[in-house]
Amino acid sequence: MTEPSPSPVDPRASPAALRFPGVRGHLVAQAALARALARGQLHHALVLVGPRGVGKATFARGLACALLCPQRPGIGCGACPTCQRVLGGNHPDVNWLLPDGKAGTISVDSARACHLRQAHAPYEGPAHIVIVDPADALGEGAGNALLKTIEEPRPGIHFLLLTTNLQGMLPTILSRALPIRLGRLEDEIVAAILEEREVPVERRDMAALLAEGSAGVALELAADPTLERCVELLRQALEAVHRGPAAIFSGDASPLWTAWTAAVSAGEPEPPPEPAEPPPPEVVVPVMPGKKPRAPAKPKKAEGDSKPAKSKDAPGQQRNAVRRLTELWILHLREQIRGRAGLPGLPPGTAASPAQRVRTIAGLQQLEARIERMGNVRLTLEQTLLELSRPARD
Ligand SMILES: [Zn+2]
Repeated sequence: MTEPSPSPVDPRASPAALRFPGVRGHLVAQAALARALARGQLHHALVLVGPRGVGKATFARGLACALLCPQRPGIGCGACPTCQRVLGGNHPDVNWLLPDGKAGTISVDSARACHLRQAHAPYEGPAHIVIVDPADALGEGAGNALLKTIEEPRPGIHFLLLTTNLQGMLPTILSRALPIRLGRLEDEIVAAILEEREVPVERRDMAALLAEGSAGVALELAADPTLERCVELLRQALEAVHRGPAAIFSGDASPLWTAWTAAVSAGEPEPPPEPAEPPPPEVVVPVMPGKKPRAPAKPKKAEGDSKPAKSKDAPGQQRNAVRRLTELWILHLREQIRGRAGLPGLPPGTAASPAQRVRTIAGLQQLEARIERMGNVRLTLEQTLLELSRPARD
């Protein structure tokens, strides 16, 4: 409760009018904090908690503008030299505490320096803001160094503690702070951010959908060279499941396994030649000419009659490809369960009813668990595709 000066912001203004510079979405949280600030009742230690990439640091910068801006006190103008320096990360009264110690923690030295700094008045503005990002990087020692300042803050000191996970925070600090939840961003906001960053239009929709409300994740995905290859692998997997065992056990040159080879080698330089591993056992399924192939109850192993899978791809890359494949596939199905078309540009797949889609999701989740245990990732994937290709009964 340390807000010193009255603010010209009208606390009764609509949420649309109560927006901090640079902050997208989170209208309810912005309005609540702007009103608290206008009434001089802003809690001095706020925990901004929300999923990765929803703009917690951006929110902290915007709120710091509101606390320091001389042009529009209490909300921030985003344009004056003060706001510009806050947004640019070089205002002397905004102190970022970032991991700089062992194993991604905030060092005790940094926390102590920050604590000592709080003993003095702000350099320029009416407030001094400490942004801890992330707050769960405060270990016991660093947390204790800050605790006194958080317990008995000087007037004008504000702590903004950023975290994805309240449980990861020190209870001593959490108990003295007020959590503010920042939820997922709307798809339109994420798509607009991707557009501003000049992400090519053909990647925007896919990245926005996959990111599920996280602009940070969407930007990572949009820059991920493996994404397109994994989408192609999903397209071929859907097609192979639709066509059945003949398409699944179709050899390395088939569209499915060509897409697989591309996905497991995506982003990797050509590895040096390695001594060949023994060929993995392959599954052979008898196919009657002119008849729709049927899967056997249990795949039989056969020896010596089929080409081994190329084994130069490290199992780690194969697991990554399967993880990304299942992640995309499950999202595709969830979109369909929500009554939408699924991921852009992909066939609908064989699951026709919501119950079948839920079963397919369960099958894919089992696949994710299995590849962690099984040595032969490709064989595990083949078995799952085979199971998914069986006609489902509702
Ligand atoms: Zn300003």
